[in-house]
Amino acid sequence: RPVIVWFRDDLRLSDHPALHAAAASGSPLICIYVHDEQSPQLRPPQARPIGGAARWWLAQSLRALAAELEQRGARLILRRGPAAAIVGELARQVDAAAVHWNEIEIAPHRAIADDLAETLSMSGIDHHRHPGDLLVAPSEIRTKDGRGLRVFTPFWRRVLGLGDPPKPLPAPAMLRAGPDIASDDPATWQLEPTAPDWAGGLRASWTPGERAAHDLLTAFLDRLPGYAADRDRPDRDATSLLSPHLRFGEISPRQLWYAARFAAAKRPAIAADIDKFLSELGWREFCRHLLHDHPDLAERNLQSAFDAFPWTRDDAALAAWQRGRTGYPIVDAGMRQLWHTGVMHNRIRMVVASFLVKHLLIDWRLGEEWFWDTLVDADPGSNPGNWQWVAGSGADAAPYFRVFNPILQGEKFDPAGDYVRRWVPEIAALPNKFIHQPWTATLLERAAAGVALGGNYPAPIVDHKVGRARALAAYAELRQS
Ligand code: FAD
Repeated sequence: RPVIVWFRDDLRLSDHPALHAAAASGSPLICIYVHDEQSPQLRPPQARPIGGAARWWLAQSLRALAAELEQRGARLILRRGPAAAIVGELARQVDAAAVHWNEIEIAPHRAIADDLAETLSMSGIDHHRHPGDLLVAPSEIRTKDGRGLRVFTPFWRRVLGLGDPPKPLPAPAMLRAGPDIASDDPATWQLEPTAPDWAGGLRASWTPGERAAHDLLTAFLDRLPGYAADRDRPDRDATSLLSPHLRFGEISPRQLWYAARFAAAKRPAIAADIDKFLSELGWREFCRHLLHDHPDLAERNLQSAFDAFPWTRDDAALAAWQRGRTGYPIVDAGMRQLWHTGVMHNRIRMVVASFLVKHLLIDWRLGEEWFWDTLVDADPGSNPGNWQWVAGSGADAAPYFRVFNPILQGEKFDPAGDYVRRWVPEIAALPNKFIHQPWTATLLERAAAGVALGGNYPAPIVDHKVGRARALAAYAELRQS
């Protein structure tokens, strides 16, 4: 009798506990991925469909997974519809001996898995749920009264206190293919854009899939020395770029944990860089645990006092921010990098998010929604978790009154203006001293660089000091109310 492996956000073969266990059983395998936008648990308000950029990634990632499976003698069956019903029905049809999957600790996904487990039990079919998405399950990090931790530092200390997670599993060498099963053509799922084809920048920037994730990891391990100091520099190639691969489970956090630990053992001098890298993985973990405890993380302020925040509605300012036309080069560079490549450097994500919620007083949820649609790494935990952190409404958040100065942030983290020049070419000829504040150059100096403020590049849509004062006043109003 065949054994079924249900793939979800774990599009890899190595360190895949469900695949590993199914392959070890020696039974013929049926590997299935279900594109599920129909289960009631995945519809708003419980969940939302993945955004445009992530849909593009998913299409490529499924192709890569199918190719890897084929090389090992197995096939990836693709289906569309409510996952619990489809996998349950397939298991009955083929008289499966068992169904294996990796647990995803996100409420709607758990609920669908519960439905499947019930269907299978009623049909007398075994099922096995494996951990595999996180370093530590949320159930393991609880306060005495059973709640999740809401502050990062003690959370991470607790995770580290548990010691190393289980070692990652190797990919199965060869797989025994199960019976031939009909599969959908994913082209009918409309994951990729047709006209207009906006994915050119994504194609030029990324190779989705497990193999590419491991290539990136290998290259990153060479760059690890200096990570702690350079990770805030958008003008340097200092970070791993692994976030979309992690988002779709093409590589697991355990694999990164052990790769970093192994690098530390070989080079004790870079221990600080490795600790920093692991703590960034810790933030991913923290956001996922927050989401586990607060399934409405993308809608509701974790600090309910923020429910009364006097946000403004300004569609023109929102559009200027989305398109990278605010007149602040570091903000515009970030927003254009996002639009073109589907990611943005972490420091700049903080700067643009702060600019939206503080200088423009626009509700963080609108920024989160834009990121959700445009990021290839758009993550249901990390995206709202970080937006709430920047907005000040989060559990362990930056205080609202800390307003990033986009000029100083630019000067500090992109001192020679290389990042800005790359993404905002129309001001590239400005001398360094003006690159983060073109309006301080004289008309003649701007003309010499081919910059016309309000012409080929916008004047600032809000004065920094005015924006800052307005943000602080709004915060004072909130505190009074
Ligand atoms: P590295 O520096 O190499 O870090 C390694 C890994 O750690 C990352 O791949 C990521 O999985 C994790 N990580 C690093 N920083 C964070 C963080 N602050 N929070 C959570 N995990 C982190 N990250 C996402 O993966 N998806 C999102 O949707 C997302 N939205 C964000 C929104 C805002 C407003 C902000 C400020 C940050 C957001 N981040 C998000 C976090 C961070 O910006 C990205 O994870 C990081 O830029 C990815 O680049 P990297 O893989 O090179 O990171």
